[in-house]
Amino acid sequence: MDLGIAGKWALVCAASKGLGKGCAEALVREGVHVVVTARGTEALEATAAALRALHPAVQVRAVAGDITTEAGRAAALAAAPQVDILVNNAGGPPPGDFRDWRREQWLAAVEGNMITPIELIRLTVDGMAERGFGRVVNITSSAVKAPIDFLGLSNGARSGLTGFVAGTARQARLASRNVTINNLLPGSFDTDRLRSGFATVASKSGQPVEAVREARRKLVPAQRFGHADEFGAYCAWLCSQQAGYVTGQNLLIDGGAYPGTY
Ligand code: NAP
Repeated sequence: MDLGIAGKWALVCAASKGLGKGCAEALVREGVHVVVTARGTEALEATAAALRALHPAVQVRAVAGDITTEAGRAAALAAAPQVDILVNNAGGPPPGDFRDWRREQWLAAVEGNMITPIELIRLTVDGMAERGFGRVVNITSSAVKAPIDFLGLSNGARSGLTGFVAGTARQARLASRNVTINNLLPGSFDTDRLRSGFATVASKSGQPVEAVREARRKLVPAQRFGHADEFGAYCAWLCSQQAGYVTGQNLLIDGGAYPGTY
């Protein structure tokens, strides 16, 4: 299927590794020019080179910086002539017990996983509406629908973003101008983030990392973890011309792990 987005410009945040990188790869394969960001330059430059190799006609610009800061967002936005597609992403907040968290930890979580995507939406969607095309995909988490007790910072901050998107995506001045905003909710994907979580559980519980990984794998009906390229393909479709009637949705991609009917 031709997704009809060749030549568009995308800003894919936090994209040197993992799910963000999967989204950037899928968009580049469709002929979309991308700005990719991350804090660490080494992995970011390697990813940018790999993206350029995927599609020689596509422009790939790498911007090093922390997307959760105003300066990081300004630099990322300045690198694109226009933003037709925005993929919001950043590192997730750390796990833990709410009894140990104070205002500082909550503010960092809200800044990274709620205010940062909202700011980038504010700065891009009216231009998208003027041009009659825009796609925003926010990478959130299946924990928005099925909260995980030790991920309280994530559950809380991402729920704030989810509530904001539910209202904003339905503004007629956006939806009627072919601007969609959706949240893509990953379950367990085989990325550095997932692997570091296993290592933390293993060191706390005294179990081998492989045992922790196997126990977690068996909880997924698909009996495996997701691949970043599967996530990227879903993201690219949500950014397609064909997905123009899908907005304000929370879309799970989790191998069947969410146990509910709705
Ligand atoms: P990952 O493999 O650790 O990759 C994270 C990427 O984001 C890296 O490129 C990292 O590069 C970049 N990054 C992190 N913080 C950043 C910041 N402040 N500014 C700019 N770039 C930043 O993580 P992932 O698994 O792809 O996860 C992506 C998001 O999905 C996270 O919010 C995570 O909590 C959420 N999620 C993941 C899963 C899963 O199973 N993997 C499940 C549910 C939710 P630098 O470190 O160099 O900046």
